[in-house]
Amino acid sequence: MSHIVGVLERELGAEAIVGPGHERLDDYGRDESPLPEFHPPECAVLVESTEQAAAVLRLCLEHKVPVTPRGAGSGMCGAALPIAGGVVLSTERMNRIKEIDPGDLVAVVEPGVVTGTLQEQVEAQGLFYPPDPASLEYCSIGGNASTNAGGPRAFKYGVTREYILGLEVALMGGEILRCGRRTSKGVTGYDLVAGFVGTEGTFGVITELVVKLLPNPPAAATVLGVFADVPTAGAAISALLREGLRPRVLELADRHSIDHVRPRSRYRFPANAGAIVLIEVDGEPDSMAMMMEKIGLRCDDLGALDVLAATEPADRRAVWEARRLISPALKAAYRIKVNEDVCVPRGKIVEMLARVDRVSAETGIATAVFGHAGDGNLHVNLLANDDPADPAVRKKMWAAAEQIFRHTIALGGTLSGEHGIGLTKRDYMHLEQTEQVLEWQRRWKLMWDPSNLLNPGKKIPPATPRCSE
Ligand SMILES: Cc1cc2nc3c(=O)[nH]c(=O)nc-3n(C[C@H](O)[C@H](O)[C@H](O)COP(=O)(O)OP(=O)(O)OC[C@H]3O[C@@H](n4cnc5c(N)ncnc54)[C@H](O)[C@@H]3O)c2cc1C
Repeated sequence: MSHIVGVLERELGAEAIVGPGHERLDDYGRDESPLPEFHPPECAVLVESTEQAAAVLRLCLEHKVPVTPRGAGSGMCGAALPIAGGVVLSTERMNRIKEIDPGDLVAVVEPGVVTGTLQEQVEAQGLFYPPDPASLEYCSIGGNASTNAGGPRAFKYGVTREYILGLEVALMGGEILRCGRRTSKGVTGYDLVAGFVGTEGTFGVITELVVKLLPNPPAAATVLGVFADVPTAGAAISALLREGLRPRVLELADRHSIDHVRPRSRYRFPANAGAIVLIEVDGEPDSMAMMMEKIGLRCDDLGALDVLAATEPADRRAVWEARRLISPALKAAYRIKVNEDVCVPRGKIVEMLARVDRVSAETGIATAVFGHAGDGNLHVNLLANDDPADPAVRKKMWAAAEQIFRHTIALGGTLSGEHGIGLTKRDYMHLEQTEQVLEWQRRWKLMWDPSNLLNPGKKIPPATPRCSE
């Protein structure tokens, strides 16, 4: 047994440690990133309190052992992989909702709370926590804050950062920092909370969050417009937004996505369906039917082949089915599914989809694109049935991904709209950001973690050696 495992066992007790030989240890060496890599840690520590998290960070600094924070391991860019070995600090046992306050519209939660559980609990009190990553049934709120997760409702309600008011963080070495506030407004001092959100476990371990809630919108309506192609769907989206529509969800999927969903869907797609647009609005119940009709008629005017619409929850779920089935259908059809989450200005979505088709034709790699058209965040899926362990296949897939990244940047976009950078996109950061910007980020990281032991090698590429060095 390695030295640190024994040290942690003595401090926290054996029940906190998943150590060498334990059947679950390998789980902490994987996440949901594409072309998965396996990086087993020496051990995982399942902390139950802020004090235990701080103790792990104190002992790991003393013994110079790397630490990788982990929530539910649903990340898609390798951010939670312990690539330097050492210890995984898991927050899965810190899963208490400490307070829901309908008057102040806040909740105080531990980081391991599952996002969907928080949503259910606040909705039971007539409240609303809007960020809705598709992984919400198992991802953790601490992971969401650390990746600044988004989801379909981000178009109207924004991403996780807008809902984190205060944080408690354990720092490398064991210091505990409480920052932020409980009020919905506040500009006192520098915004350390905003600075921590999205840092992918490289600055500190989040041990408690104060999250902002909203009153739950009493009703919602969902409309699915089916179009012959992406340009027609894109024109419909632009027209609806120009007319002042402010949907909470505005999703788009291309022909390749539809073709994979067709055999599984209860809805019979028209044979020439080439794009779908899913629109959801929310508000007062008596305005829903009118909104639904207005959107449906406008889709008809703009050339929709078919329109489905619903206001009742069960019917709305049926309308959502086509969109929800895309990812599982692609996963079932291909051994390799590299799901990139680039983001382009809304006006460039149609051009981006045309460029993805070109990359597919040039590389022979199948693609399917769906995503959040409202904010230009597209899930570009690169698909293959080759052996994912074959280095030549990995090289080919990443070369295609690089082309997607280059087209994204050329259109004024950004590498990641929601999944984060982690390990898999780290070495493409220079396509988007200057060396000066990267260097300021390296300095910022070292301010919080001078020993570079907390989730090392993630988020920012290492400095390139200069000629004089
Ligand atoms: C099917 C599927 C659908 C998805 N859909 C979406 C989506 O719609 N939108 C979206 O944004 N993402 C999505 N994701 C990606 C993923 O679910 C999110 O990135 C999520 O926020 C990760 O949460 P987690 O608890 O699993 O974190 P992990 O994967 O465990 O960790 C992610 C990062 O956060 C750090 N971290 C975790 N907890 C803490 C903590 N307490 N303190 C400090 N650092 C911490 C880790 O070190 C790592 O860098 C999806 C993933 C899957 C598999």
